[in-house]
Amino acid sequence: MYGTKTTLTLILTALVFGGCRSEQDTVTSPSSIVHDIRINPPSSLIVGIGNTIDFAATPIDASNQVVAIPIEWSILDPAIASIDGNGTVKSLKAGTTSVKATAGNQEVSGQIEVWDPPSLDTYISGQKYQGRNGYVEYIPGDLPLILSGPHGGNLCPDEIPDRTYGTIGSCSSTGSDTNTLPLVTTIRSVFFESTGHTPHIILLRLARPKLDANRKIEEAAQGNPFSENAWSEYHGFVDVAKDTISKEFGFGLYMDMHGHGHDIPRIELGYLLSKTDLQTSGLNLPHMIDKSSFKTLSEISLASTPSSTSFTDIIRGPKSLGTLLEERGIRAVPSGPDPAPVGDQKFFSGGYSTGRHGSKHGGVVDGVQFEHHYPGLRDTAGNRLSYAQDLVEVLEVFLESHYGWPISKHFSEN
Ligand SMILES: [Zn+2]
Repeated sequence: MYGTKTTLTLILTALVFGGCRSEQDTVTSPSSIVHDIRINPPSSLIVGIGNTIDFAATPIDASNQVVAIPIEWSILDPAIASIDGNGTVKSLKAGTTSVKATAGNQEVSGQIEVWDPPSLDTYISGQKYQGRNGYVEYIPGDLPLILSGPHGGNLCPDEIPDRTYGTIGSCSSTGSDTNTLPLVTTIRSVFFESTGHTPHIILLRLARPKLDANRKIEEAAQGNPFSENAWSEYHGFVDVAKDTISKEFGFGLYMDMHGHGHDIPRIELGYLLSKTDLQTSGLNLPHMIDKSSFKTLSEISLASTPSSTSFTDIIRGPKSLGTLLEERGIRAVPSGPDPAPVGDQKFFSGGYSTGRHGSKHGGVVDGVQFEHHYPGLRDTAGNRLSYAQDLVEVLEVFLESHYGWPISKHFSEN
């Protein structure tokens, strides 16, 4: 009996040890159980030479559990970028290559593009400048005017996933901003035909699900490096235009061009004054001027001709943008005939770009968001042309009345 019991004990012990040994093998040599490797980001962009971006790789086993094992990093084309043992990639020259992460007998690749934007000291009026992949276009002009079109693009590249929050829009339709980009180019053409000179224009060709340039970068690009780069290019081109105009003229007007789908067919002019602000009978209040994208113009006008010009006049007086449009049969709010939206009427008071590029935070360039209705204004090429002709007249009068700068006189004297 004793002998038999001993034998059984030994067999059991051997079985237990056998099980333990196999488990220990797994712990000391986990490379054999690496089933897959996740890489993050799967593709990315480095802007400029000598800059870095970090890749991370996570080995996982068949049960989707993380395996603690070192990663080996390598790069396919070491002339384009280098990579260190921590997955930090450094750009060396423009191009596209791939990085490889190896763990155990598995490997995974990620893509890296080095984009080296040209650094230009001067921009030539009338020449088209494009950012990476043509997502953003800038055509410099020679007038103290800047027009931007942030919505209404239709490019939907696979490299940028759709945004997941905010106003997302659609890749199949430009929605309420339809035809706003052709509207901007038409206005540019009409300026050239009637004066021989042009405003600066900046257009975003990406569709709104990929980038909303009229938002802070976080909501605009939602962390995607290709989209973030386009956002920076877009606002960078507006900054270039503003710098040029500020140096050359000492004043300027920035117009952010949109389309709305609200019930009333009238242009909504956004000076960062809300519907409630505009419902105030007299706008000549320091806090009203202070929050407005027309702050600089207001301060200059009120200082130079305090008896004849008030902030209310600038926003909806006889020579305001709204009233000048109304005189040409185009409904606009705020204006003399239509001083403020009322009741439950919808109204866009100006967004991120008007706040950033207007004069609320200083500078000599004032800003306004133009929200255009669709029917009769931007629905057909003929209507866009007709509106553009009216708007060019309006802007000529506006520049002369408020900045003391008649376009024709200025250029004929030169
Ligand atoms: Zn818009």
